[in-house]
Amino acid sequence: MLTNIPNNPNSCQECGRVLRGRTDKKFCSDTCRNNHHNRKNAHDINLRRNINSTLNKNRRILCDLAHFDKNQSVTIEQLLRKGFSFSFFTHVLKQPNGQHIHCCYDCGYYHQSNSRVVIIKRENLKKVNITN
Ligand SMILES: [Zn+2]
Repeated sequence: MLTNIPNNPNSCQECGRVLRGRTDKKFCSDTCRNNHHNRKNAHDINLRRNINSTLNKNRRILCDLAHFDKNQSVTIEQLLRKGFSFSFFTHVLKQPNGQHIHCCYDCGYYHQSNSRVVIIKRENLKKVNITN
């Protein structure tokens, strides 16, 4: 009976077996489909977990360095030594003066110079004008 089912030009995305039947089929069995999706989901979950972990670490570093009631200027070197990653932030607040505040949730910073940033904590972020 299997000989009546035409070969599919594609192979199973999980095990590589030749597929039979519909040309839009991607997997030879439910097991292969489930294995494929479970592995892909695990990869995606792991990726998001690592990003969230980096964002939370950045936020913690900013909050730890900031004074409670005023803005604090720190060196980029200080942030890097604590493990801060400048590639990760949740959003950017653009100021009317063109300045960009990079935020990690409720804490942010802007560049004061090539070597220093000013940290802005939650209370003060609320006062910042959002222009976009
Ligand atoms: Zn398969």
